Amino acid sequence: MDFVKVPLNQAKLGINQIFVGKEPWQIVTITTSSVLLLSWLYGFIFDDDSLLERGKRTFFDIIQLIPSVRKEIDGKKKEVWEGFRNEHRERTKNLSYLRSLPDKGLKNEDIMDLLEGNLKMGDYNWKDGLVSGSVYYFDPEWQKLLTKVYEKTFFTNPLHCDVFPGICKIETEVIRMAAELFHGDTETCGTVTTGGTESILMACKTWRDYMRKTKGIKKPEMVVPRTIHSAFDKAAQYFCIRIKYVPVDPKTYKVDLKAMERAITKNTVMLAGSVPNFPYGTMDDIEGISKLGLKYNIPVHVDSCLGGFLTVFMEKAGYSIPLYDFKLPGVSSISADTHKYAFTPKGSSVVLYRNKDFRHFQYTVTTDWPGGVYGSPAVNGSRAGANITTCWATLLHFGTDGYLKATGDILRTAKYIEEKLRKIDGLFIFGEPVTSVVAFGSKVFEIYRLATDMGKLGWNLNALQFPSGVHLAVTHLHTQPGVADKFVNDVENIVRELMKRPEKPVEGGLALYGAAQVVPDRSLVGDFINYYIDAMYYHPCENEEEK
Ligand SMILES: *Cc1c(COP(=O)(O)O)cnc(C)c1O
Repeated sequence: MDFVKVPLNQAKLGINQIFVGKEPWQIVTITTSSVLLLSWLYGFIFDDDSLLERGKRTFFDIIQLIPSVRKEIDGKKKEVWEGFRNEHRERTKNLSYLRSLPDKGLKNEDIMDLLEGNLKMGDYNWKDGLVSGSVYYFDPEWQKLLTKVYEKTFFTNPLHCDVFPGICKIETEVIRMAAELFHGDTETCGTVTTGGTESILMACKTWRDYMRKTKGIKKPEMVVPRTIHSAFDKAAQYFCIRIKYVPVDPKTYKVDLKAMERAITKNTVMLAGSVPNFPYGTMDDIEGISKLGLKYNIPVHVDSCLGGFLTVFMEKAGYSIPLYDFKLPGVSSISADTHKYAFTPKGSSVVLYRNKDFRHFQYTVTTDWPGGVYGSPAVNGSRAGANITTCWATLLHFGTDGYLKATGDILRTAKYIEEKLRKIDGLFIFGEPVTSVVAFGSKVFEIYRLATDMGKLGWNLNALQFPSGVHLAVTHLHTQPGVADKFVNDVENIVRELMKRPEKPVEGGLALYGAAQVVPDRSLVGDFINYYIDAMYYHPCENEEEK
């Protein structure tokens, strides 16, 4: 009759049975060790990474203990490192490198000569629009203005607001202009940062600390689309936040909202979406994410780093775009890079919050330092005031009408390229590009072959993985006369050639990139990337040590 009492009684009897005839010390020891064992088991099973992930890692760790496997892997690593290094060495072999501080300071002309020499390096002609994204150059008139502004402010530092109050005022003006563009109100606030990565790091730190304070979350998790920028992974690594990736729909390349909802737990400190994302240039359903945020009372961050300064002008420029900014009540913070489509020099971005209480969680305050009570708003202590003033001057130089024109030109070019590529037999476009990024792939031939052959014609495109693809991020440089047509014609001609032998494998540098996608041990790919970065820092003095 009593459903609870019967099993409880049985359990009691069972436990008593275990301890029959045991002495008190034995009872204490058995109890303590079983509690410890249970708690270890719980920790083991519910660790940050899934059992499968950890199982795989342990497996790879173990097989690497086998000497022949170890040797094979070490050999491969050495080969990859030497590959990167030799490529770099080849490229720089006729150059002389400085090895130590000159005894006497150089003459200005000599310094400028050295600088010119260094700037001449590199095979890609970005000025004629052959490079995807990367350089958000505008025109010589704007460049002249910025040089003047830089000259007047390169020594300023808004960390010392009492010494440079004007720079702090300028920063607030940049934030206000951005807040208004993203439909914030007078409560909307933020900071100017050194770039999209810093803006994203700051938003992640803010929501981690905010949710710890307001909900007591001690094992924070963020739930983000698989296509979110890698800066979120950096934030996860820096700030010990578990990152949970949600797949995107394989047709639209927008985040799967149902899967996002399922990934939410009591430890979720933030949700995020991109407008647009870097790989495919598609945008997530921010309205849907905003609703999830409200339903579960979780902050929503919108990453508009890439497209923010296009999307805010799109409606007026005649292009429609779904809601994504502070007009949506669930959107709590937005990142937008001025150093992309606002055409400011590299080193500036804006992170915005719906209200001032949120921004407090971004700050770091140290109260007991012998150097004084120290507080700073973002990652840096001292900050380059000139990054803020050149950003501000650029915004003023363009004004709404300048940005409307630039946005129109860029969107028109991107749409034109998209339309033309859609007509090329053998290619497909990933989803619906919303702003300037057009991503394409092929079901017929290896798309990296196209990227490789485009490279031979001087084009520098971005290679995507999972699935393989290529994208062009259209910048103002691509709006110059003839550039879009040259791009489309080059793609068309190459595809026609590739279609003649569609089964041929990819060769050259991108072959390694493609191969890396199927390496099951991802830590190995990580090692390769470390070597790639090492090669960036290659200096010929290493060469001599080898001999
Ligand atoms: C560029 C970009 C960022 C930030 O990158 P930074 O290089 O640090 O400015 C973030 N999100 C997206 C979608 C981007 O394209």
